[in-house]
Amino acid sequence: MIQIVGGGLAGSEAAWQAASLGVPVTLSEMRPVRPTAVHQTDRLAELVCSNSFRGDKLENAVGLLKEEMRRLDSLVIRAADRTRVPAGAALAVDRERFAAEVTEAIRAHPLIAVERVEVDELPQERSMTMPSIVATGPLTSDRLSADIAAFVGAEHLYFYDAISPIVLAETIDRTRVFRASRWGRDSPGDPVEAGTGETGDYLNCPMTVAEYDRFYTALTGAESATVHDFDQTKFFEGCLPIEVMASRGRDTLRFGPMKPVGLVDPAGGRPPHAVVQLRQDNLAGDHFSLVGFQTQLKWGEQDRVLRLIPGLERAEFVRFGMIHRNTYINAPAVLHATWQTRRRPDLFFAGQLSGVEGYVESAASGLMAGLNAAALALGRPPRAAPRTTALGALAHYVSHADSNDYQPTNIAFGLMPPLEKAPRRRAARRLATAERALADLAVWQVEAGRASDAQSTPIVS
Ligand SMILES: Cc1cc2nc3c(=O)[nH]c(=O)nc-3n(C[C@H](O)[C@H](O)[C@H](O)COP(=O)(O)OP(=O)(O)OC[C@H]3O[C@@H](n4cnc5c(N)ncnc54)[C@H](O)[C@@H]3O)c2cc1C
Repeated sequence: MIQIVGGGLAGSEAAWQAASLGVPVTLSEMRPVRPTAVHQTDRLAELVCSNSFRGDKLENAVGLLKEEMRRLDSLVIRAADRTRVPAGAALAVDRERFAAEVTEAIRAHPLIAVERVEVDELPQERSMTMPSIVATGPLTSDRLSADIAAFVGAEHLYFYDAISPIVLAETIDRTRVFRASRWGRDSPGDPVEAGTGETGDYLNCPMTVAEYDRFYTALTGAESATVHDFDQTKFFEGCLPIEVMASRGRDTLRFGPMKPVGLVDPAGGRPPHAVVQLRQDNLAGDHFSLVGFQTQLKWGEQDRVLRLIPGLERAEFVRFGMIHRNTYINAPAVLHATWQTRRRPDLFFAGQLSGVEGYVESAASGLMAGLNAAALALGRPPRAAPRTTALGALAHYVSHADSNDYQPTNIAFGLMPPLEKAPRRRAARRLATAERALADLAVWQVEAGRASDAQSTPIVS
């Protein structure tokens, strides 16, 4: 029997993996008994912000990570594949259907019992065959956070992410925007937009120099919301609020989320000076999110400043951007590469709390913690995946990075050992690294007795 605390992406995946190996699981989730500041439903694996699982090609490290997870019969990736919405080379999902799929699969599994309860303390040490996984995420409740802080022997580290606004599709002024993907990279079989003849996964709001200047001035003069409960704001560099980026220089946004490269405005026949991209956020296509536009501006200020974006002058905002807490442990000081804690091998941490960053990485750590906790329950040794795989590289980083200045990370090819004979071209090098990873994963699966009958989707590179 395994106890898992937290029914998010990591906890749900861990429960699925352990139960798939025949080990009974109790999954404790506090919603809806106790809500978080951000989750809006009682569903398991609710996506709290973007609906994107990022790149889906093998030349992309997170694409490789997802493919490895597919091959290990990941519930999260299976649900994502089944509920995907058009997003060019990325895997984006209908968030409602995605969470419903995961929730139903967990509910229907005969070996998983879900209890809706807030857990206040780390699970007690029982025996090595009764391990526990704590996967309570970036918004771990206060009392459990305090107990974790006492256990890891160090202060929790906090930093803050900010999330992007969403607008109602029918309120976007379609005479001002055009549909296209950068460099014309559309999803295969994309429908042609009625009326315009345009194809592409994104709606693009083009800006002239004057429009950009007006927007920039309003943005840098706007008032931010107060963030309670911290002394020093530390943002994850990959998820900076737009106003923080803007404060770094007039053109920083034009080299970031507002970069116009790869796009031609049909109105002028040239690339715009800057662009704001809108990505479909649900399958119905009635919600669009502003790509890379996470912000901590006050909602009234967002309402004023974002309306300066061409096409959004009269937009209805379904959700404004906001700032949130992120709680994580100093992983290299606490964890082995198997996601077990060094002090108590029967206790695992997984998900964002364990010091990874992102939906896919959180689910990936849950997958490995679930497999290894099940191994313990079955009297077998837990095993880390090879470092040459994305799963293994992530675990290696988390357990071996510098604990004096630990930063959670997304998966990246840079975390994997270099190839002995690396091709010169970057795309070829990445593909060769991915091929090595998948070959090593297959060997590891056999050695670890984890060869899965799961049908893997074909590789698209
Ligand atoms: C506002 C916000 C925006 C984010 N935006 C993105 C994004 O756009 N893209 C991205 O990749 N990542 C984003 N993240 C990070 C994101 O949270 C993680 O990538 C992912 O959700 C982490 O999965 P998890 O399973 O670790 O945590 P969660 O998915 O948060 O799951 C943890 C679960 O534990 C439950 N829980 C907490 N405390 C207790 C307790 N004491 N007892 C029982 N249950 C408990 C919670 O209710 C929750 O259901 C964002 C995070 C936040 C907070």
